[in-house]
Amino acid sequence: MNLDESPDERAFRAEVQAWMRAHLRGEFEPLRGCHGPGTPGFDVALAKHWEQALAAAGWVGIGWPRAAGGAGFSPGRQVIFHEEYVRGGGPGRLGHIGEQLLAPTLIDHGTPAQQARFLPGIRAGTEYWAQGYSEPSAGSDLANVRTRARRDSVTGEWVIDGQKVWTSWAQEADWIFVLARSEEGSTRHHGLTLLLVPLRQSGISIRPIRQMTGSAEFNEVFLDGARTEASLHLGEPGQGWKVAMALLGYERGVSTLGQQAQFRHELELLIAAARANGAARDPVLRQRIAQAAMDLATLRFHALRVLGADNGAMPREAWTAKYAWSNWRRDLGRLAMDVLGTAGDVVDGNADHARLQQLWLGSRADTIYAGTNEIQLNLIAERALGMPR
Ligand SMILES: Cc1cc2nc3c(=O)[nH]c(=O)nc-3n(C[C@H](O)[C@H](O)[C@H](O)COP(=O)(O)OP(=O)(O)OC[C@H]3O[C@@H](n4cnc5c(N)ncnc54)[C@H](O)[C@@H]3O)c2cc1C
Repeated sequence: MNLDESPDERAFRAEVQAWMRAHLRGEFEPLRGCHGPGTPGFDVALAKHWEQALAAAGWVGIGWPRAAGGAGFSPGRQVIFHEEYVRGGGPGRLGHIGEQLLAPTLIDHGTPAQQARFLPGIRAGTEYWAQGYSEPSAGSDLANVRTRARRDSVTGEWVIDGQKVWTSWAQEADWIFVLARSEEGSTRHHGLTLLLVPLRQSGISIRPIRQMTGSAEFNEVFLDGARTEASLHLGEPGQGWKVAMALLGYERGVSTLGQQAQFRHELELLIAAARANGAARDPVLRQRIAQAAMDLATLRFHALRVLGADNGAMPREAWTAKYAWSNWRRDLGRLAMDVLGTAGDVVDGNADHARLQQLWLGSRADTIYAGTNEIQLNLIAERALGMPR
């Protein structure tokens, strides 16, 4: 692990900084520092324009191979981009699910025709995707999926019936990848297929789930005779579990490592708030802040080490990353509220307070999505340590 930046990397960092300064202004100013569609007042149409501005500058698909239309950046350059993006106030990425989850899966498991059809829209910031995995009785126990897919006997099209839930940003997306049971009588992880389905069609209705913040980040998605083309299964029909798990590997793995920069930024906000209101003089809070800073440094070295494993395989230490960062951020959210004291309990129009309140509220979800804490511990025990199920 080489922690020194090369002259080339330093120049790249300066290039990203300059680009952010020059572009995140004017019409895009309202997006500065927004977490994403969960932030009250988040302007989705503007965020899509922002995605397109990023795309035009070549900042979308930076980790994809060049042959797939990406920039083929090294992991080190990707980290630098994410660090400077967040430091420059860049908003949460609306194209995340398409760019970071579906695209790598398409590149590894899609047909050339599927890649040619879907990668350009993701790369250009013009097509947005949602993830249709969870159902009312299939969350941690994803193999319990009940949504059904069958072939139309005349057209060969897939016809899908069922319900998905907690589908992030489906109300803003154009397509959804749906894990569905396609073999009659199959159980658990057998007989599933991952389908690429257009969201805007009469067989699909989307009902936003209103959160206590007032915004609606995720949705219920009802599929009632929804249709997609015969060729739009990702991987072989009946083998969807394998592809769905590969996709989750991207969600739990490398794609989250760029978050380090966001965490650093949030810690800096918290320290600024502690200085401003005097909490920084409280010895116990000072210790907790210092501990958070040390733990974040450890997380960063861990991320760089995992990224630095260049044999292509995910080292077993990588299994611990999601558990470690999500718990760190949840604790940072608690610390932020303790630093703010009673000011944290009210919405007072102070933008810095609002960011820390958002941190606290948002961090509650981190130990749930992409596999809950308990599921992560199961994965560490079984996959990283080889313990029996
Ligand atoms: C912010 C956010 C965004 C999300 N976005 C999406 C999305 O876009 N698409 C999508 O498909 N899903 C999405 N989800 C859903 C997410 O994947 C599920 O919430 C998650 O998998 C947990 O499932 P569940 O909510 O059904 O909880 P359950 O699986 O019912 O779990 C309830 C509790 O039981 C525990 N538990 C369950 N099984 C075990 C076990 N075997 N051993 C020990 N403990 C266990 C869990 O850890 C948890 O504490 C999102 C969730 C959140 C919070």
